[in-house]
Amino acid sequence: MPDVPVKRQWITGDKLWFLGSLHTLHLKQQNTTTSINLTSSDITLSGRLTKLSTSSRHKKLCGWYKIQATNYLTARSQYLSAQTGLKPSSITVKTYNARWGSCNTMGEIQYNWKIIQAPKEVIDYLIIHELCHLKHHNHSKAFWQCVESFYPNFKDAQDWLKSHSSKLNI
Ligand SMILES: [Zn+2]
Repeated sequence: MPDVPVKRQWITGDKLWFLGSLHTLHLKQQNTTTSINLTSSDITLSGRLTKLSTSSRHKKLCGWYKIQATNYLTARSQYLSAQTGLKPSSITVKTYNARWGSCNTMGEIQYNWKIIQAPKEVIDYLIIHELCHLKHHNHSKAFWQCVESFYPNFKDAQDWLKSHSSKLNI
């Protein structure tokens, strides 16, 4: 059964996923421009927070996630592209509500930034999935053989995504 989405208030104590581990959100009021800092256990939002509504804090954090996702997914895709010999013409990161990524016939790969909350192994599966679409623009047997050749445990990653996707829809 998929999990029920978590309703967050975007306040101190909220639990946030980043690369598969839970981080505690901290709000820190200070007279500076807004910034977000990540440690192994925490994500801290600092700045003039009294002026920020719940939805503004949510927006700031989603913007931050998107930057982290763009950096991580671009670098990791380049690495896995070199490993597999499958080269996309471009990589972009955007907001999707009901998918994790896509690859068109021009060889352009797009990812949903929300995947940055998932464990690294699951992100690798998504990248391999989209890279194999450069060769097979469908979900044929040949496509899944391509995925399996580069990522043998792909069923585990698919199961993880199925059972966690509502949790990652922040
Ligand atoms: Zn696909």
